[in-house]
Amino acid sequence: MTVYEHVMIGTNLVLAGGLHHRFGWRVVLVGGLAAALPDWDGLSILLGSTAYARAHRVWGHNLLVASLLGALVGAVDYATDCSGRLLRWADRFGSRSAGQSSPGPLPRSYVALLAWILTGTVATLSHLPADMIYAKHPTLAVWPLPLLWPFSDRAWAYPIVPWGDIGATLIFIAEMFALYRWPRRAQAIACLAMIALLVYVAIWWWTGAGR
Ligand SMILES: [Zn+2]
Repeated sequence: MTVYEHVMIGTNLVLAGGLHHRFGWRVVLVGGLAAALPDWDGLSILLGSTAYARAHRVWGHNLLVASLLGALVGAVDYATDCSGRLLRWADRFGSRSAGQSSPGPLPRSYVALLAWILTGTVATLSHLPADMIYAKHPTLAVWPLPLLWPFSDRAWAYPIVPWGDIGATLIFIAEMFALYRWPRRAQAIACLAMIALLVYVAIWWWTGAGR
């Protein structure tokens, strides 16, 4: 699964939960960004192949680091309103579709702060099961995730769908057209897209295709 599909899963979790009705589209942006965060450990390639071999799919792909990083990103965005600035900037270039109003002042309350932190955490954690399921490869060995790192090196994988399969990509591209066309029905569209993804994975699991 690539960054795009992770971002869309995070986005859909927020939309399906209806958080955008209360907090606007900036919290949707936080969910999308947070869902891709665990792949930061791939940047270890910049430190050389030895560091990459040790860090990639380890340092970012575990419950502890993913939870803390997701919560931190949620809190930092709430404190700085980065997502609100980005949406206002996008508005200036007219790149948002009709039906989405420009973000007003950030709601200041403990409930909103909690919503931001929980969105960051849940969206980041959604990355881990997605990578464990999208772990099939015709020639390479399965690449399990060390969920309990750094306390344990035990690793898990449930390889059902091939890593590069484009089924989820097509579902999410169709969803983006639907969101653009019917932004006010975003919650229902996100629920449908997630159901479609689950059914798609279930079909792979049921048929054992490619086994
Ligand atoms: Zn990943």
